[in-house]
Amino acid sequence: EAAPLLQVNNIEVVYNDVILVLRGLSLTVPQGKIVALLGANGAGKSTTLKAISGLLRTEEGEVTRGEIRFGGERIDGIDPHLIVRRGIFQVMEGRRIIADMTCLENLRLGAFTRSDGEVKSDIERVYGYFPRLRERTGLAGYLSGGEQQMLAIGRALMARPKLILMDEPSMGLSPLLVKEVFGIIRRLNEELGITILLVEQNARMALSVASYAYVMEQGKVVLDGTAEALANNEDVKEFYLGGH
Ligand code: ATP
Repeated sequence: EAAPLLQVNNIEVVYNDVILVLRGLSLTVPQGKIVALLGANGAGKSTTLKAISGLLRTEEGEVTRGEIRFGGERIDGIDPHLIVRRGIFQVMEGRRIIADMTCLENLRLGAFTRSDGEVKSDIERVYGYFPRLRERTGLAGYLSGGEQQMLAIGRALMARPKLILMDEPSMGLSPLLVKEVFGIIRRLNEELGITILLVEQNARMALSVASYAYVMEQGKVVLDGTAEALANNEDVKEFYLGGH
């Protein structure tokens, strides 16, 4: 069997040389799948994504033990922009689009690693998934929360990633928009074959699109299984699915 696309082996992460936030975390993301990472606030989910994308280093965080492999090769300790070049793109929590640039400029930024002539057709492809973005010609800061989330995902697509790390895509969105965004996440996986590692507070939504899931507590995985098994697990139901 081929090596999984992403493999995180027993990593430890510290911030500012002292605070131990991940304590031997391991997870696997197979090629072509959607995998969900669940857990309470502060469990270390965002830190896990940042360890993979390399963005941890912009926050004085460091992987101090273990290893991260992408396509079989070690990527822990590599510069974030080189990790993007290898095909991993993180869509940050809170969206982090550039407010004083237009939508189109934000999308072009996502293609910063590319020099091919297909940026234009890729922008069209993004508009195919998010038709509303085509009509928004003003500054991105004036977009609604849902539109900003769509722009953040669109910008990730511009990098032609193999793996998207998504941090709380449902955050701050109305139930209707959450449905729409998750529908698009599913399509990106099915139609473009993009592998997705998804961090989500909305466990119900996450388990509905994922094939496999991990539950984290205090910097480690405490439970994992198929999305179906976790959706039927009594503890998961009680703590993450509102008790029914
Ligand atoms: P949330 O859903 O609240 O974002 P999370 O599971 O994503 O939770 P993390 O954001 O990874 O959790 O945070 C895990 C722990 O690491 C928390 O105790 C947090 O206070 C700490 N932490 C996060 N970022 C930093 C940082 N830049 N410097 C120091 N400590 C941090």
